[in-house]
Amino acid sequence: MLLDYLLSLVSPHICKGCDEVGNGLCESCFFDNISEKYMKCLVCGEVTKRGLCRNCRLGVPFERAFVVGERRGALKRLVGDFKYNSERGNALVIARLLDAVLPVLPTGIVIVPIPTIAPHIRRRGFGHTELVAHHLAKSRHIPCDNRLLLRADNSVQHGLKARERQRQARTTFRLNPRRAVPPEILLLDDIYTTGATMIAAAKLLKKHGAKTINVAIVARQVK
Ligand SMILES: [Zn+2]
Ligand SMILES: [Zn+2]
Repeated sequence: MLLDYLLSLVSPHICKGCDEVGNGLCESCFFDNISEKYMKCLVCGEVTKRGLCRNCRLGVPFERAFVVGERRGALKRLVGDFKYNSERGNALVIARLLDAVLPVLPTGIVIVPIPTIAPHIRRRGFGHTELVAHHLAKSRHIPCDNRLLLRADNSVQHGLKARERQRQARTTFRLNPRRAVPPEILLLDDIYTTGATMIAAAKLLKKHGAKTINVAIVARQVK
């Protein structure tokens, strides 16, 4: 965006990896973050090549999972400053990271971001996951639906215990009755902690017609 570009001239962005001037991540730190494939199960953290280990694949309502990396170091700063310090330009870098770790996606797949809660949109002026989804959709030439999955409840999850998150997540989402649920979905979120949010969203989408749900996560919370 022009505004981001102009702002970057006035106050140049710093690379979250090495503190050199760079837009979110410099090329070298960008490469560091994608050069080694993330080899852990999204759910349990066991070593696996496939994103979900054999056991966990049976217990979650999604078929495949793709993760950029663990939530630490440069990735943690990149996502954190994007969400909490409104560094809007990081959306493009995060979308590039996802683009680099995602395989070729089947035709007909639609990107569905986990919607940002309303108070956060008001405070930051943008929905952060929606913005990443928008950039990713553009670079992959696949559609993205930011209005299919809606928040029914806007409470903040931050700081809640695992069980409370699960209970809250179950009633968090609703579907937009004016939208059709596509059979194949790439469900996108920035951080994965207990999985309660992802699982609730995927269950709802499957209940209403989704056949296959692929999950894309930027940063997996370290156990
Ligand atoms: Zn760097
Ligand atoms: Zn597992």
